[in-house]
Amino acid sequence: MNATAPVPERLAPPGRILVGGQWTEGRGRELTTTDPADGGVLATFTGAAPEDVDEAVRLGEAARAERSWRELLPHQRARHLARTAELIESRAEQLALLQSHDNGKPIAETRALVASAAGTFRYVAALLETQEGAIPPSRGEHLAFSVHEPIGVVGAITPWNSPIASDAQKVAPALAAGNAVVLKPAAWTPLLSLELGALLLAAGFPPGLVSVLPGPGATVGQRLVEHPGVGHLSFTGGTDTGRRLAATAAGLLKTTSLELGGKSPTIVLPDADLDLAVNGILYGIFSSQGQSCIAGSRLFVHDDVYEDVVGRVAERADRLRVGHPRAEDTQLGPLVTASHRASVEEYVASGLAEGGTLRAGGSRPDDPALTAGNYLRPTVLEGLAPDARVVREEVFGPVLVALRFRDEGELVAAANDSPYGLACGIWTRDFPRAWRLGRAIHAGTVWINTYKQLSVATPFGGVKDSGSTREKGLGAVRAYQRQKSIYLGTGGPLAWAD
Ligand code: NAD
Repeated sequence: MNATAPVPERLAPPGRILVGGQWTEGRGRELTTTDPADGGVLATFTGAAPEDVDEAVRLGEAARAERSWRELLPHQRARHLARTAELIESRAEQLALLQSHDNGKPIAETRALVASAAGTFRYVAALLETQEGAIPPSRGEHLAFSVHEPIGVVGAITPWNSPIASDAQKVAPALAAGNAVVLKPAAWTPLLSLELGALLLAAGFPPGLVSVLPGPGATVGQRLVEHPGVGHLSFTGGTDTGRRLAATAAGLLKTTSLELGGKSPTIVLPDADLDLAVNGILYGIFSSQGQSCIAGSRLFVHDDVYEDVVGRVAERADRLRVGHPRAEDTQLGPLVTASHRASVEEYVASGLAEGGTLRAGGSRPDDPALTAGNYLRPTVLEGLAPDARVVREEVFGPVLVALRFRDEGELVAAANDSPYGLACGIWTRDFPRAWRLGRAIHAGTVWINTYKQLSVATPFGGVKDSGSTREKGLGAVRAYQRQKSIYLGTGGPLAWAD
């Protein structure tokens, strides 16, 4: 891949949004998306307005209630999902390139995200074909059937860091479950979600079933949350936004799926394979420029190996290749926007003001070729108290804080002393100890001697302020359905009235 690779042709008509199967001009504010590598304008269009949400919900409800769609059997519906997977794969390189332009992730990473999106559609298709209902034991003269039905219209709200992969995690199971979906991508990165809308139409999903409405969260997102026609909200994003959304949804008795922020601990025990650990620590925090909910941003190292590990991590961090996101060998591209980089820099400054010292990074790269982009060097801070802001809050950037520990009890208390509980990494050769720690740490996912490995077949989600629900895995489709119990009488008249 050449760093100057042009922005690929899009399937979605430029300047349009997808409202109930129609590519129309939005009724909202003008949106401009820019390339984080150089600030160049990628697309300008009029985003959605709350009225577009109203129309999308109305058309979505009509489309999903249409007999020709509603009565399709699961294996027939699954074909549309499998076809979507094929279409994503047929445009994999264009989609990966477009996403790299849209949010600045290195091309190698965006290729993996596109592959993950196709994999999600394929997995969900298989799930749909194989999912079974239940006949609970009867306590009378009847048969009881437990069946699963669609919720109706699902509002899917996604962040900017992994657009097509996080969109697929919601859209594929929600459609498989028989719902219509109104997808609201982040205003900074709408292009991949619009491409996904075009691919879903090409795959044969009925027009109307899917809308893609880029626009501000405070207006478009909020209307989706409040709209009485939306029965379920599937949200991935920051904890503050998720908390507000969940409060509104609870008042309206809507169900929610919440995938929120993180501040995940990575733990190095003294008997660990340190080469393996250093490699995993670097990948865990600095891939995606640290803009990952599961980034291993708090590093806990045992006193006996602290200097060795932190010294090696810092030295290797300084040598990571910060560069143009379309260059094949780039390890860290630019951050998503200049304002986001400013917020990450502010966290680094706060760490220094609170007594921390820099072991690596802390500044923008010197390379003149990178001055137009939102680049920041991978940064390692140490010497901070547990209550320092940069230790407690999610930075969502390439910033690692290194912390010491001596005994296991102290370690567990310190690692759990966080509002978040998304993920955890443990590096050791002592598997019983790893198991014990893994069970004691508050997290939805624990990696032992590896990090940031994910599979659509494995449930994913957090605890505490990182969320309350699970995506992926065997429950993926059921999360977008409601159970109904149907009793079929098999005896004579009921005794009471006889
Ligand atoms: P954000 O909360 O600012 O925005 C997420 C989405 O919510 C966007 O589409 C936004 O427009 C929308 N939104 C904002 N206000 C809204 C409102 N009032 N009503 C409805 N929608 C509204 O988050 P972000 O900055 O886009 O993403 C970064 C955050 O996402 C980080 O905290 C990260 O950890 C989290 N994240 C979590 C996961 C996970 O699976 N747990 C995955 C990726 C990102």
